Amino acid sequence: MAIEKMEVLVVGGGQAGLAMSEHLSNCSVPHLVLERHRIAERWRSERWDSLVANGPAWHDRFPGMEFSDTDPAAFAPKERIADYFVAYAKQIAAPIRCGVEVKQVQRNIGRPGFRVETSEGVIEATNVLAATGPFQRPVIPAVVPEDAKIMQIHSNAYRNPTQLPEGAVLVVGAGSSGVQIADELLRAGKRVFLSVGPHDRPPRSYRARDFVWWLGVLGKWDAEAAGPGMEHVTISVSGAHGGHTVDFRRLAAQGMTLVGRTESFKGGVMNFAPDLADNLAHGDTNYLSVLDEADAYVARNGLDLPEEPDARNVEPDPRCVSEPILELNLAEAGITSIVWATGFALDYSWLKVDAFDKNGKPAHQRGVAAEPGIYFLGLPWQSRRGSSFIWGVWHDAKYLADHISRQRQYLAYQTSAKRKIEGS
Ligand SMILES: Cc1cc2nc3c(=O)[nH]c(=O)nc-3n(C[C@H](O)[C@H](O)[C@H](O)COP(=O)(O)OP(=O)(O)OC[C@H]3O[C@@H](n4cnc5c(N)ncnc54)[C@H](O)[C@@H]3O)c2cc1C
Repeated sequence: MAIEKMEVLVVGGGQAGLAMSEHLSNCSVPHLVLERHRIAERWRSERWDSLVANGPAWHDRFPGMEFSDTDPAAFAPKERIADYFVAYAKQIAAPIRCGVEVKQVQRNIGRPGFRVETSEGVIEATNVLAATGPFQRPVIPAVVPEDAKIMQIHSNAYRNPTQLPEGAVLVVGAGSSGVQIADELLRAGKRVFLSVGPHDRPPRSYRARDFVWWLGVLGKWDAEAAGPGMEHVTISVSGAHGGHTVDFRRLAAQGMTLVGRTESFKGGVMNFAPDLADNLAHGDTNYLSVLDEADAYVARNGLDLPEEPDARNVEPDPRCVSEPILELNLAEAGITSIVWATGFALDYSWLKVDAFDKNGKPAHQRGVAAEPGIYFLGLPWQSRRGSSFIWGVWHDAKYLADHISRQRQYLAYQTSAKRKIEGS
């Protein structure tokens, strides 16, 4: 049977794969998107039930289509986000095959291109673009042994409070996932301990503008790299319940117990770093710096945006911050489950090419890999802070489509002598 040939094979049919398809079509580059499950699957089956977008619908979307059934200022629920991408794929007539998994990609020997083994046979591709997501494999730090008598799940397996056993819960990690899950569990009447690490904590809105607008006009989504030593600082924001600023002290006042970074576990006792106050102070500094920069922007541009002095009020430290818990016997505290909101790792075990550094991370420049013909899209900080988010990936995809298009022109180049011979 003849082997199918394709100029660009895009692996993954999430937002990154679709953005790539749109830009490749705009550049008239033949391509195919392979998705092992359904379009935007992770929004459907790897996120908790009540999740809504972290940004308002006017912002967390592609330029070419608005959310038809969501107020632009509202935060779209996760199923609606997945539906949006299904509709988008239809609008751009994306050549996408669902239910096909890419098992292995290898460079051809002695000729250009790659041999792509899929669950439905082999494809020969000139270029392969990995759009398999910024958050692929859940990471649970090796702190509590698996056989300890306590339920442990990662945030990507958490669905809703009924999933957890009776008793208190420890949520580890206070990025957007951890803080939203902890808040939901507290509202459901559970006793909640939240382990808070370093974080940024922008205001949900300030002077009548959402923080996504402020980060946009202040150029922060376009920042090319996090500050020195800050590479892993997570942004703690929430679109839940209409959207609100994440305020750890307020959560403590509502009954949540805050602890510092989770460090180790021995004999049923969990140890926490003595860094809770510092982490909250760092979050406050970040919060206040956004207000300062926003005020300066308003003044410089003479904008008529209402002042909001109350936004600078900081609640006093609750007892769990001034007298932090450094050790906790989980059984004595009634803790029966742990939700690890501790992030994700990349997994390119299927991509057997020379495109990774010595730590196994993609070696690339703005998504153009060290191995010619291989591309990455949707990586965290691929070109800027916004790269792994809905609106940012669209711009990175445009850059890559331009790059692929230019490479095609080089490869199509012929000398005038050769053109003449072929024409005669
Ligand atoms: C909890 C959470 C909330 C988020 N909220 C927001 C938000 O509100 N706004 C925002 O802008 N961003 C948000 N993000 C970040 C980002 O938008 C999402 O992670 C988004 O899913 C990334 O899209 P993607 O297309 O890059 O990757 P993914 O959505 O992960 O898509 C990759 C696709 O590749 C497929 N795939 C993987 N391996 C293979 C293979 N070998 N063969 C074939 N197919 C394969 C997968 O099935 C998947 O469908 C959130 C992330 C998380 C974790």
